[in-house]
Amino acid sequence: MSDETAWQARPHRRLNALTGEWILVSPQRTQRPWQGETTAAREHERKPGYDPTCYLCPGNSRAGGARNPNYTQTFVFDNDYAALARDTPPAAIDDDGLLVAQSESGICRVVCFTPRHDLSIARMPAAEIRGVIDAWAQQYTELGAQPGINSVIVFENHGEQMGASNPHPHAQIWANASIPNEPAKEQAAATAYLETRGTCVLCAYLARELAAQERIVHRNEHAVVLVPFWAIWPFETLVVPRVHATALDRVTPQARDGLAAAMRVLTAAYDRVFDVAFPYSMGFHQRPTDGLPHDEWHVHAHYYPPLLRSATVRKYMVGYEMLGMPQRDITPESAAERLRALCATIEH
Ligand SMILES: [Zn+2]
Ligand SMILES: [Zn+2]
Ligand SMILES: [Zn+2]
Repeated sequence: MSDETAWQARPHRRLNALTGEWILVSPQRTQRPWQGETTAAREHERKPGYDPTCYLCPGNSRAGGARNPNYTQTFVFDNDYAALARDTPPAAIDDDGLLVAQSESGICRVVCFTPRHDLSIARMPAAEIRGVIDAWAQQYTELGAQPGINSVIVFENHGEQMGASNPHPHAQIWANASIPNEPAKEQAAATAYLETRGTCVLCAYLARELAAQERIVHRNEHAVVLVPFWAIWPFETLVVPRVHATALDRVTPQARDGLAAAMRVLTAAYDRVFDVAFPYSMGFHQRPTDGLPHDEWHVHAHYYPPLLRSATVRKYMVGYEMLGMPQRDITPESAAERLRALCATIEH
């Protein structure tokens, strides 16, 4: 190992260029014995294509008595258990900067990917995933055009370990008035980068990673999957369209096809890491829908899978991570190497 890369084998911290936050990397700890949770792997259950008790399957009734149509592709509806409400009356308190609160208006929706109860992005044809991306883009435009909606976040909780209450393949969309913490941090960092260096931070970062190759997991003509230099979760990835676009509405049809293909390869590779349906939370960051151009934004998806060393050993964000900063053991480079090898085994 050369002196230039020796630092990578020793404890170090890395800057997240998208948020401005630091993470701790401890590569020497990878071999430490595990004494935590080792619950037995759940047998990969064979799910039916239609489940009469599922509130997302076509033709079934939901809470409150609404009945799903016999949909054949994607299906979008207002969440029956919404975390936000439209037309929340404005209210605010600020007691010397100590007790500060504001009312928040918003809309929550559910996007079913397919009528098939037993599928997942990993097992859907790329053409159907493209249809899901089109539905997300359409929802982004529709919700973003509503008065008082400035942020639209599309996300999927996949698998019981991530708290998904229903295995039917679906995403959620939360659209609200204020910019939430995570995109707000990214917006501040991207704006600062654009102002000081005159370029989009993600365009610049992508070019750097494509040249280095070390953390690239998969790529096609239109999209790149990589383990970011600053990844926190063991097999965390970033999926980025190659051509600059501030949100999904500006991503061309060809690039949406490329994005769909990359998402299919990545999720299929995830399912092979520990030979189990790989749990994750994923979602898109896009420009705010406040009507401003926001050229500092470059649309991207984050995948945050919790599994660490087996189908049952997951990473927890506890202790020093709650009190100090996030920390990881296996390096982003070794995680990328493993995912890259698995992506190469997926037909595409
Ligand atoms: Zn279902
Ligand atoms: Zn860009
Ligand atoms: Zn982001």
